[in-house]
Parts: sequence; structure tokens; C-alpha cells
Amino acid sequence: MKEPDEPSPHEIRNRFERQRDQAAKRRVTFGYRERRRALRDLSDAIRQNEAAIIAALTEDFGKPETETILTEILPLQQEIRHTLKHLKRWMRPSWRSPSLATFGTSAQVRREPRGVCLIIAPWNYPLILALGPLVSCLAAGNSAIVKPSEMTPATSSLIALLISQTFPPELVTVVEGGVDASTALLELPFDHIFFTGSPEVGRIVMQAAGKVLASVTLELGGKSPTIIGPHADLDRAAEWVTFGKFSNAGQICIAPDHLFVHRAIKAEFIAKLRARIAEAYGEGPASANLTRMVNARHADRVAGLIEDATDKGARILRDGGRDGNRIGPTLIEAVTPEMRVDNEEIFGPVLPILEYEHLSDVIDRINANPKPLALYIFDTDKRRIERIVQSTSSGGVGINLTVMQFTHPRLPFGGVNTSGIGAAHGEYGFRAFSHERAILRNRFSPLPILFPPYDGRKKRLVGLIRRFLG
Ligand code: NAD
Repeated sequence: MKEPDEPSPHEIRNRFERQRDQAAKRRVTFGYRERRRALRDLSDAIRQNEAAIIAALTEDFGKPETETILTEILPLQQEIRHTLKHLKRWMRPSWRSPSLATFGTSAQVRREPRGVCLIIAPWNYPLILALGPLVSCLAAGNSAIVKPSEMTPATSSLIALLISQTFPPELVTVVEGGVDASTALLELPFDHIFFTGSPEVGRIVMQAAGKVLASVTLELGGKSPTIIGPHADLDRAAEWVTFGKFSNAGQICIAPDHLFVHRAIKAEFIAKLRARIAEAYGEGPASANLTRMVNARHADRVAGLIEDATDKGARILRDGGRDGNRIGPTLIEAVTPEMRVDNEEIFGPVLPILEYEHLSDVIDRINANPKPLALYIFDTDKRRIERIVQSTSSGGVGINLTVMQFTHPRLPFGGVNTSGIGAAHGEYGFRAFSHERAILRNRFSPLPILFPPYDGRKKRLVGLIRRFLG
């Protein structure tokens, strides 16, 4: 495997300038055919290196092979396939009919490349969250500098190698490294920044973008609540909560962060949840189906959340145990607002269960907190589901399932305010990396008859128009 390449700020600027120097030419030369070729090349590179990708993710945080295939490789290939299938339509200029004032003109919207884009990725899905945005970026005709996360070094350097073998650096280049590299990149006048990561770093990115007025897409995180209603299908809820919360050891931006469980079904639901967890992951933290926490710092952080909660009176319903950086699925209850677990994004295999009686209390609590990236509802009562959806805001909603909203190619994926700005995937991703340029062509506009000087005839005409418009 290639040695980590952490270029100096000077080298980073050089790479940026090489891409920027080509930007005007690329607008002409990087058309439909060339973009398709680039996407196919990316797809081939991934296919040919599947074994290396699986090995890198195992090395970085013990991710099971099946999970890497299901949650990294297949969704990335599906994003490429979907884009290849629809790119021609997305790129096609669209025509708009005129208004009264623009009668006699033709109006067109063209989706044009933004230019040189920066993609900053997190570590939790290190492949798809770096290369998924790249698919949209290339489809929209841009060049890109990709900065993967320093926390998953094996995957990061594999991405750097694959990209350097697949694309010329004037089109795509990878900058490896951590905060220093990111900071050096954020000083450059990119046309668009696509950032995936924590809300805290999202603020830093947006401030940097503000200095050069780069447009941004911010894919952030937060605490995604899950409501288990009194008439939920409890087997189904237990199955999907286990999958959404404990895959990737809970290191998922849209994992259920905590549960609100109706008092009437709480005991029965917890029994089913425990049984489902035991079936999927056995007892303790040793299961081969369980991903590790990405590093000791994060394992300590999650262990610290549990300790803080129990010190302050929370009860452990299921102790997953810890072995190094492996933490087993852990359920806790009696969580109160002064506990860290009730305030910080958990991002690990710890699931607080909060009991409720009145739905309005749950809705008030959700609305008192930052708008989440995801909201999950398990219920069979359509009116109650609709009431929750209508009276809250979140990036997306999952009803009787978890996390799958990420994989739907025709849905926008993104947050709202603290959980994110803008959207990714499919056509939404293509649009994030495109500038929608308005082009208005005069054909036989009669408007000059109203140009100054405003004599009596023109005033009467304006009067007539006003009357006509009501
Ligand atoms: P992070 O914000 O710590 O890091 C993300 C990226 O930013 C990394 O490449 C890192 O090197 C860089 N970075 C870190 N500190 C920086 C700084 N001070 N200045 C500039 N760049 C900096 O996030 P993470 O720990 O890698 O990922 C976890 C977070 O990401 C969680 O909050 C999670 O919810 C969120 N997330 C969101 C999505 C989404 O699609 N919305 C997906 C995955 C993760």
C-alpha cells in the first residue's frame, strides 16, 4: 500500500491551481461523453480493487466484509449506475415559458459546472462518503480535490492510490491528512465545498467558505430520535432498530440516537429488542458481526458516556461490555437531561430508552432540540404518524424502518440547519455541484415601447396593463 501522502500547504495550493488553470477549458472539453467515461473508470477502479477495499476497512476498524460490500461498495456502484442512466437528462437545458413582462423572449436554464470543488469526508463510511460526492461532482463537470479522513488511514491511502491511477490530477486529486491539510485546503478559493462531518467542523467550513463566498453542501450529524408508538409492530421495530443502531457499531450519522418508547409496550419491546440483539451479535463485544470503534479515543468517549450516565443514575438494561476498541450493544434507561448521553451525538453502540405516555411531550422535546438529520417512527396508526411528521422538522424521515432513506437514489439526502445544508445523491447531488444558469434571449420583446421618456401614451398603456393584471 502507498505511503500516506500529506502534502505541504504550498503543494496543496499548486494542485488547486493546476485544476483552476484548466477550469475554463474543462467547460468545453468535459462534456457528456467524457463525464460518462470518468464515471465508468471510477466504477471499474472500485470493481477491480474490491478485495483491497474490504481489507482496508477491516484494517481501519474491523468492519465485516459483508457490511463493507452492503454499505460501501454496492451503494457506491449504485450511485454511479443511477447517474450514468440519468446524466443525459440531468444535463439537458430546460426551457421556461415567458411571463407577461418577458413576452417575446426565450428562457433557458443550463446546469453548468461550478468549477473546482473540495470534498471533505469523515471516517465512518470512509469510501462512499468520499467517493459518492465525487460521482455527483464529476457528473456535473467539475474537478475535485478529495480529502478523506485521517482516522481511517488504510482506506484513505487506498483512495489516494485508486484516484491517482484513474484520473489526471488536473481532474481529481486526493489530499491526505488531518486538520492541517483541511485548514490549508479551506484557505483556497474553491467554487464549491462539499463537507461531510460533525456540526462543529461544519461551522468552521462554512466560515471559511464565507471568506471566498464558495457555495457549500454540509452533510452533518446530530441526535436522531426514534419513536416507538403504542401500536407499533414490535418485532419489526426491534429488527430495524437493531440494524440501524448497531451496524457499524452505531457509527452512522443517521443511526437512531435514542428511543422514545410508549409506556404501554415498553417492557414487551425491550424484551424483543434484547432478543434481536442477542441473535445478531451474541453476548459481549466479541462478535465478528460487530464493527470496532474507529480508535481508542472514540471507544473511550463512548465508554465515558455510559459511565457519566450511570454515575448520574441511569440504569443499564443490557451491558454490551468492552474489549479494547470493541463495545457491545448497550441499552440504558432512566436517562435525564444532565447526562452527556442526553446531549451529545452518541455515535456508538449505546441506546438510551426513554419512556413516554403523551405524544405531545415527545414532539415538544424534539422541537426543543436542534433539527435532527433523521427521525424514525414505528407505528401502524397513519394519523399518529402524520401528526409527528407534520409537527416536527428533520433532514429525513423513516417510517417503520431505519437508515434506508440514505440508499434511495431518488430521494434527497441531507439535513436541515444544524444537521446540514443542501442535499446529496442522484439528481440532488448533481444539482449541488451545478450552477443553474438563467439564459434569457430576446426574440421580439415589445418592451421598448415602454422605455423612457414616459409620455402620456406610455402612461396610458401602463394604466391599461395595471388594470389587466388586476
Ligand atoms: P469531523 O467533523 O471530526 O471530521 C470530518 C472531516 O473534517 C475529516 O476529514 C477531518 O479531517 C476534517 N476536520 C476535522 N477537524 C477539522 C478542523 N478543525 N478544520 C477543518 N477540517 C477538519 O467528523 P468525523 O468524526 O469524521 O465524523 C463524524 C461526524 O460526521 C458525526 O457528527 C456524524 O453524524 C457526521 N456524519 C454525517 C454524515 C452525513 O451524511 N450527514 C455522514 C457521516 C458522518
